[in-house]
Amino acid sequence: MNNSNSIFNRAKKVIPGGVNSPVRAFGAVGIDPIFVKSALGSKIYDVDGNEYIDYICSWGPLIFGHSKKEFISGVEEIMMRGTSYGLPTEIEVSMAELIVDAYPSIDMVRMVSSGTEATMSAIRLARGYTKKNKIIKFEGCYHGHSDSLLVKSGSGTLTYFEPTSLGVPSKVVEDTLVAKYNDIESVKKLIEMYGDDIATVIVEPVAGNMGVVAPDIKFMKELRRITEDNNILLIFDEVITGFRVSYGGAQEVLGIKPDITCLGKIIGGGLPVGAYGGRKEIMELVSPLGGVYQAGTLSGNPLAMHMGYKTLKALKNDKSLYTKIENLAIYFENELNRIIQDLKAPLTVTRFKGMLCIFFIDNEIKSYDDVKGSDLKSYAEFFRKMLKEGVILPPAQFEGLFLSDAHTKEDVETTIVKMEKVLRKMY
Ligand code: PMP
Repeated sequence: MNNSNSIFNRAKKVIPGGVNSPVRAFGAVGIDPIFVKSALGSKIYDVDGNEYIDYICSWGPLIFGHSKKEFISGVEEIMMRGTSYGLPTEIEVSMAELIVDAYPSIDMVRMVSSGTEATMSAIRLARGYTKKNKIIKFEGCYHGHSDSLLVKSGSGTLTYFEPTSLGVPSKVVEDTLVAKYNDIESVKKLIEMYGDDIATVIVEPVAGNMGVVAPDIKFMKELRRITEDNNILLIFDEVITGFRVSYGGAQEVLGIKPDITCLGKIIGGGLPVGAYGGRKEIMELVSPLGGVYQAGTLSGNPLAMHMGYKTLKALKNDKSLYTKIENLAIYFENELNRIIQDLKAPLTVTRFKGMLCIFFIDNEIKSYDDVKGSDLKSYAEFFRKMLKEGVILPPAQFEGLFLSDAHTKEDVETTIVKMEKVLRKMY
């Protein structure tokens, strides 16, 4: 038994599943998880002394890689001045100014502590603003674990939706409707059926939680048009894509202005931060200005703001990082496609800017329907073999790979060599 195994055994006794977020248990890949000791740049080191090239990057926040010296230095000084006050600080204002400056759709922004809080609060705000009840989400999109967003469409019908978690009463999800990603007709039908009572449509402008599924630009433009025409607020959940696919997020790339934007991950630089923002007249409804209540003891926490501010400032000062990461992702995609074609393996690579996914299915990929038949067993085998080779991929098929500024061409070249070796044995 190695150190990770024995810590996991201890963990399972005192933490449900031994982990504080389900995917970390490696359940989908059929092995016990590694426990991390430290991380630097593009590498993670486990408690058994193994080194891995990391493509999880904390699920997105670490666009500069792990433990960037310039960001970490200064944390101690901030802590010496106190770790939390429950009173306002200037860095919160500077953070908000940076975000407002980067997103023309955002006039005002409120900080929270996670992506879940950001989307939950954005939905409450949309309902409060429109005075309507129903919301539309897309199958395969994830927006955190608040009750009303844990929903999928039931048994292929367009009118029956069921909770995806125990403990969510069906009454709570009665007002959550589910449409098909990249399929505008499915949205139009729901609007026809429930017309006047739809408050908002929430969407990941680039889907990153069913693997990576790129948006069809016509679909997104049409979504913007029909929501506007029907007095429905459009929420872009940019928790993953914000400051990742471009400094101005997916909305900048797609040229679409949502009514409300949710942010998280990168804006905390690895510390717990989320945010939601939008037009002034909408945001002015948030307490204490308006009647939509939302609060947080640790919201705008000085350490989290420090990391977030440094990250955003560094991104703003050198936007060439986005091209660098995208070029690396393109190289990765091309090399993978070469191997896949050579082996005639039933795999499909998807990519949007620097976001990348390797699906174990040979399909055109536009929605959850296209990926749900992926060969999960083969993905699990691929994951396990790559881990042995010193590369850590997302421990689940329906997650994207994250690249950072710290990943070098050599990292990706090494990864490709190892992937080719592993896939040659599998196909
Ligand atoms: N929205 C999206 C698009 C996400 O990917 C996630 C988390 N992966 C969330 C919301 C929830 O964020 P958090 O885990 O910080 O609550």
